[in-house]
Amino acid sequence: MRTFADWAFCGAAVEERRIDYDYRRNNRLLIMKNVPTGVCRQCGENYFKPDVLKRMDQRYHDIVDRIQKPE
Ligand SMILES: [Zn+2]
Repeated sequence: MRTFADWAFCGAAVEERRIDYDYRRNNRLLIMKNVPTGVCRQCGENYFKPDVLKRMDQRYHDIVDRIQKPE
C-alpha cells in the first residue's frame, strides 16, 4: 500500500489533512469540501490519492451533466 510519504517528490514528510479544494476544469470551478489530501511539510505541495481524484472527477461530471441536460 502506498502512503503519502511515497508521493513527496522532495522526499520530505507528508502530513495528512482535509482541505477545501478548488477543482478547476474547463473554465468551471467546483469547491470540493473536506477533501483528504497529503501536504508536504517542506514544499507545501498537495498530493491526492488516485481514488480521491477519481471521486472529484465523477462529482464534476455529475454536476456538469445535470446543468447541461436539456429539459
Ligand atoms: Zn515536498
